Amino acid sequence: MRQPAWPYGDALRDALGARARVNEPLAPHTTFRIGGPADLLVEARTIDELVECVRLARQFGVPVFVLGNGSNLLVRDGGIRGLVIENHCDAVGLDETGAARARLQVESGARLPGVANRWARQGWSGLEWAMGVPGTIGGAIVGNAGAHGSCIADNLLVVSVLDAAGVVRELPKTELEFGYRTSRFKRAKDEIVLRAEFELVRDEPAACLARMNAYAAHRRRTQPTEASVGSMFKNPPGDYAGRLIEQAGMKGARVGGVEVSPLHANFFVNRGGATANDVLRLIEIVRARVRDKFGVELELEIEVVGEN
Ligand SMILES: Cc1cc2nc3c(=O)[nH]c(=O)nc-3n(C[C@H](O)[C@H](O)[C@H](O)COP(=O)(O)OP(=O)(O)OC[C@H]3O[C@@H](n4cnc5c(N)ncnc54)[C@H](O)[C@@H]3O)c2cc1C
Repeated sequence: MRQPAWPYGDALRDALGARARVNEPLAPHTTFRIGGPADLLVEARTIDELVECVRLARQFGVPVFVLGNGSNLLVRDGGIRGLVIENHCDAVGLDETGAARARLQVESGARLPGVANRWARQGWSGLEWAMGVPGTIGGAIVGNAGAHGSCIADNLLVVSVLDAAGVVRELPKTELEFGYRTSRFKRAKDEIVLRAEFELVRDEPAACLARMNAYAAHRRRTQPTEASVGSMFKNPPGDYAGRLIEQAGMKGARVGGVEVSPLHANFFVNRGGATANDVLRLIEIVRARVRDKFGVELELEIEVVGEN
């Protein structure tokens, strides 16, 4: 693995001081446990800190990558150049807007399962589906995460973003270009989600809990527990990527340390020591087999980032 030179001068490292970690391996920061180092990594715990880090990096001409929980990412083996900001901003507040409705304001680094669980237990319904989605609110909005027939866009009202010019703006849902596992943020890479507001509705805590438990039980039955990034490919229209991969005989296929899960064919699992190159090779093998057998071109649901 190449140890990259740092071409940006000392100003950013000096400004971030002891907060910045140099050549930080990213594998432990992803659920796949794969990936080379970030040139610099800093953890942001408040929105002020997050905004300050982005502004400093931009001021000194250093590329910025905002990392949520790393649960939808394959980081290539050469890692990510520039500054990686790991988002831990997780303040949450709830305003009741009537007997049956509330507005939930959440910072973008809050973990989705924790948020869903906390409010469902208090009888605020709307995010129960997200119990098993191990990402942050920000990452979920970027990819319009969803499960069990629901998605993050359903209850979302408005987000606040730091835009490319460094200005904080409020964007209503109508401007977020949500689609199947996509949003405007897939295109507008220099906009950073800071906060989001959701509408929740009153229900019995026991009913919310029962839904969450049923979803969790379904996941335990159908999804592997080894290190993964969830679904590797999007479902093609009218079909399931997992069904196509399974029918193409690819369950259990392996390259190096990565394997197509024998339990769920759309999950690739890290059996230990997998590299990003192993995963990229297995992706191409699976795609070719599905293309040859069914004439379907599978599209990645995960995002591949960084350098070889
Ligand atoms: C076991 C397992 C089960 C899963 N099940 C599901 C499922 O049922 N449904 C589903 O949709 N997904 C699922 N996923 C995938 C994943 O959890 C979601 O895509 C999740 O929303 C990703 O969030 P994250 O914080 O981990 O984002 P990351 O992987 O850290 O980042 C993803 C992208 O979002 C960007 N990003 C993150 N935060 C911000 C921000 N604040 N502002 C701007 N850009 C940002 C990153 O730069 C990157 O481009 C699963 C994953 C695993 C491992």
